[in-house]
Amino acid sequence: MKDLYNQVKTMSNTNSKKISWATTVVGSFPYENTKENMERAFWDQIHAGIDYPCYPQLVSMMDQFFDPAIEAQSGITKKGNQYYLEGDFKVPSKPIALKYGQFVLDFFEKYPEAKSKVKGWKACLTGPFTLAGEIIVPPEKVNGKRPILYEEPRAIMNAEICSQLATMMADVAREYVNMGASIISMDEPSLGLIIGKRKILFHPEETFVEILNKAIAPITAQSSNQLSAQFSPQSSIHVCGRISPRLRDMLLHTNVNIVDHEFQKADNEGLYTREHLESNNKVLAYGILESSVSYQTDGNLDTYVETPAKLEERISQVVSEYGKDYLILKPDCGFGGLKDIFGQELASEIVRKKLANLTQAMKKF
Ligand SMILES: [Zn+2]
Repeated sequence: MKDLYNQVKTMSNTNSKKISWATTVVGSFPYENTKENMERAFWDQIHAGIDYPCYPQLVSMMDQFFDPAIEAQSGITKKGNQYYLEGDFKVPSKPIALKYGQFVLDFFEKYPEAKSKVKGWKACLTGPFTLAGEIIVPPEKVNGKRPILYEEPRAIMNAEICSQLATMMADVAREYVNMGASIISMDEPSLGLIIGKRKILFHPEETFVEILNKAIAPITAQSSNQLSAQFSPQSSIHVCGRISPRLRDMLLHTNVNIVDHEFQKADNEGLYTREHLESNNKVLAYGILESSVSYQTDGNLDTYVETPAKLEERISQVVSEYGKDYLILKPDCGFGGLKDIFGQELASEIVRKKLANLTQAMKKF
């Protein structure tokens, strides 16, 4: 027994299965939501040389989970564009929103040649707090808490509902582990608004950590099972925008493997040190490509896309700061927003070129 324990300990210390010095994306792409475009957007990533392509998220990160949650009679309802919970929340009896992972499995079956071009694939899920921030609840559900930040009481102010949403998302994550996803992300943009430099809203830090750990538990359980696991899925949390030191510390205290942030649009330079990552056993998914691009009257593909030389400069800087073992390189955030600015054709061309330039620039290191 002791030997087994030591063996496990050694293996987890060497952390041989962690994913680093690889490329991935956040998830959304500037395409209309059709089956054909799902394939196009997945091929775009594979042809650009992305190591861990994500299933293309062509629907909003809210609808992706709320629509099936409504169907599963969770108690959530939709009126206009808003989600409501009037009674109690009921965790769906079966895991929801699995068709995106099924798409990936079908894709690799249809195009077996694609599989050898990637190291694995990624699933982008929406985290419990971000989902809860979208659900309007009656005032009695938030114990008289003032709806700071939001105009009306929201489920995010109720720890129990957040925890139930974490269970719902853990059920989804477990299925993605079974489907063989290599990186499973809980996207939590809302956390950036709630955990500021001075103030932390609605709950103590421990509650946030506990609920996030619950949502990623099926992933972390599998990835720490080093003896039996042939493959070891990595959990990730994506928070965009500027990250406060308090939020950084909170994320470092969770069990997550990968912390994923913007570094081009948001000034997060120097937020993490190599020591932070090393001592908390984390990898930094570093936003090295700008994902929000402004329209320019005389703009063209070359003005909208970072050159490989520019990217080499950025990469060289982060490699010297963190080392390759602690880095995954990726765009800041999703690319979905580019569709309305440039239209599908130019927007997707911009994305293809950005991703290809990134993988090309990385070859120099
Ligand atoms: Zn984001």
